[in-house]
Amino acid sequence: MHIEFDKDLCVGCMACQQTCDRDAITSQRINGFIYPQIDNSKCIDCGKCVSVCNQYHRNIKEGHIANQIFACQLFNNDEVLINSTSGGFFYALAKYVIDKSGVVFGAGYDESMRVVHSYAENEKQLIKFNGSKYIQSDIGKTYMQAKEFIAQGRYVLFSGTPCQIASLYDFLGEKPSNLITVDVICYGIASPLLLHKCLEYYERKNNKIVNYRFRDKSIFGWSHTTKIIYANGKTRININPRFDLFYRLWGRADLCLRSSCYSCPYISKMRVSDFTIGNYWGIEAISSKFDIDKGVSLVLLNTQNAKKIFGFIKNELITDIGTWDSVLMYQHGLKKCVTAAQTNTFYSDLKNLDISKCVSKYDPPSFLKKIVLNMPHKLQYLLLYPLKIYRVKKGGVRL
Ligand SMILES: Cc1cc2nc3c(=O)[nH]c(=O)nc-3n(C[C@H](O)[C@H](O)[C@H](O)COP(=O)(O)OP(=O)(O)OC[C@H]3O[C@@H](n4cnc5c(N)ncnc54)[C@H](O)[C@@H]3O)c2cc1C
Ligand code: SF4
Ligand code: SF4
Ligand code: SF4
Repeated sequence: MHIEFDKDLCVGCMACQQTCDRDAITSQRINGFIYPQIDNSKCIDCGKCVSVCNQYHRNIKEGHIANQIFACQLFNNDEVLINSTSGGFFYALAKYVIDKSGVVFGAGYDESMRVVHSYAENEKQLIKFNGSKYIQSDIGKTYMQAKEFIAQGRYVLFSGTPCQIASLYDFLGEKPSNLITVDVICYGIASPLLLHKCLEYYERKNNKIVNYRFRDKSIFGWSHTTKIIYANGKTRININPRFDLFYRLWGRADLCLRSSCYSCPYISKMRVSDFTIGNYWGIEAISSKFDIDKGVSLVLLNTQNAKKIFGFIKNELITDIGTWDSVLMYQHGLKKCVTAAQTNTFYSDLKNLDISKCVSKYDPPSFLKKIVLNMPHKLQYLLLYPLKIYRVKKGGVRL
């Protein structure tokens, strides 16, 4: 028997493809998301793909609820901290593994601005993983690569969404002692098609894009400002997420997430990984140790292994103790799945309409917003700059 993927359950981990030694599984895109495709002429019905498939065991087999919660901020490395989404905890953990001659897996852009999983073996290569990309990464062959490094006895740190980590365990069939895992708090992931259409639009306005930073701290601190970097060295800063194409649709999470996210079993306090990381929203109410504008990481220590490793890396960080009450106040990704909208026109519009028209259809602008949106970008920037209302400490979107 081979896998029969269900579009509402399949998480796109491609563990099935990586486990099939007959090359009978390729990939296909549905609404921009990756799904497997079986070539029946090559399949010998060995059932291996079923045994590793997340769809068939959609529960948290060995979950843990953290009994230690920390707020962390990298210190003595402002360059990395500014390029990290929250407090740069991921980098401190990754550097610990690199210093032990280990290998770190994470999500970064490739040369075509696709978000893909890959690995790093030195500090320079780690930079590509810095910063959240809110679209689904292509896992490629990274489970196979991680398996090989683990078999060589090297430390492996694998980072990703909780479903990507759960599928890695399914693929490996166990949790080896030299594997360390870290997941992000996640209430859903958007389609690569959405980012592709946004980038295409911004490229038409200027030049080839070489980086799109979903969360840029360089001007407004820990905010939801986006920064586009063009190949010609120019940049475009969308100060306010309400005027950024991607965020306007990301705000419609009821429409643009992968189908599996609407019934995700990993949206829970029960965690699959050693560490869970996120933004410590609201930290200013319980600690004054941090420079809030630089961002603060929320770190859940879910296992004994995580507690041990945290002991080794805490000297690289400013830390304070956190509480479940303060965490749960903001973190939907630990509590409840988003409810899907009752419409099936979104993806056909995303594919067929110009992205600006599609955004206006699903996030209709008010009269005033329309005026700002129609301004030349420089004027829009000058108008919004003095307002600075989307800095995190003054409220605003939090994810
Ligand atoms: C899809 C997604 C949704 C998130 N939702 C929330 C949320 O609701 N609340 C919250 O507090 N935090 C959320 N986060 C986590 C948060 O944005 C930061 O990633 C986290 O706080 C770590 O920040 P950092 O400063 O330690 O390191 P950073 O350098 O910012 O972290 C980078 C880490 O994120 C991983 N990563 C980046 N993009 C992806 C991707 N597309 N898929 C898988 N892994 C990726 C990298 O591999 C690396 O491990 C989300 C992250 C992602 C990717
Ligand atoms: S049943 Fe075996 S041969 Fe067929 S697709 Fe699955 S892993 Fe490949
Ligand atoms: S959940 Fe993963 S293993 Fe299962 S069908 Fe989907 S891509 Fe394949
Ligand atoms: S919400 Fe669940 S299914 Fe969706 S990407 Fe996050 S962990 Fe995976």
